[in-house]
Amino acid sequence: MAYSAAGKGLLLEELFIAVKTTQKFHQSRMGLLLETWISQVKGQTYVFTDKEDDELREKLGDRVIITNCSAEYSHPALSCKMAAEFDAFLVSGLSWFCHLDDDNYLNPQALLKLLSSYSPDQDVYIGKPSLNRPIRASEALPKNQTKSVYFWFATGGAGFCISRKLARKMAPWASGNNFLITSELIHLPDDCTVGYIIERKLAGHLVPSDLFHSHLENLHVIQGPQLTKQVTLSYGIFEKKLNVIELSGPFSPQDDPSRFRSLHCLLYPDTSWCPQPVIL
Ligand code: UDP
Ligand code: MN
Repeated sequence: MAYSAAGKGLLLEELFIAVKTTQKFHQSRMGLLLETWISQVKGQTYVFTDKEDDELREKLGDRVIITNCSAEYSHPALSCKMAAEFDAFLVSGLSWFCHLDDDNYLNPQALLKLLSSYSPDQDVYIGKPSLNRPIRASEALPKNQTKSVYFWFATGGAGFCISRKLARKMAPWASGNNFLITSELIHLPDDCTVGYIIERKLAGHLVPSDLFHSHLENLHVIQGPQLTKQVTLSYGIFEKKLNVIELSGPFSPQDDPSRFRSLHCLLYPDTSWCPQPVIL
């Protein structure tokens, strides 16, 4: 699977980075991302939301896409946004589609390093397996019958990437209204539907990577030199406790509860709002 020569010179400009959000998170979550990692890859970042927003528009211009999807946390609404991401990627002509949630930190250099081992001309689906075994879905058949199907999928909340070659093959099940139809057929959320299309319709395989992280796993264990090597990170509440990466500073947990600002200063110490070393 690994590809040595052609991917080597992979450029940031070849990536399509889709971030899924919703109006209620524009200020809080998107504000944080714009100040941190998105500032490094503004030209490649496409934000999919449900409501116009002057600040997003001013920062990202045409790369804010207002979907006609409803602003709710439901399978159809989230599948509708995933379809919009997918369609915008196909139109863009770019080499790699990467999906992120609005509570992910992306390290673009770590992502480039990872993807440069592969070619966008191969079928590549890479991310964090959601379970330690394939998920089972009941595929609806005619006459009220169902069939059990098994497949791996990457957790959407940890981010995942798909090569252009594979994305084009997915179009009959993933583009436009087809994504919603496919997700309704198996009664599962958008990220599972992506896995289903790739593994069951196209005989592709998820390439498991432990460099993608969601807040459904214990983030405290990612510390020290490991932090700057991860492709994605996240934050959130898990089992009633704040689940964040372990970083001592420069910002306090009160000023930087997600720890994303502290991580950003570790990766980009020259950022204007990062504490500058005192020169005597
Ligand atoms: N989201 C959305 N519409 C909603 C709620 C959430 O598009 O009504 C998006 C949200 O912006 C995020 C993703 O769905 O990118 C996952 O939401 P969240 O992190 O709140 O929930 P989780 O599924 O991770 O617990
Ligand atoms: Mn989340």
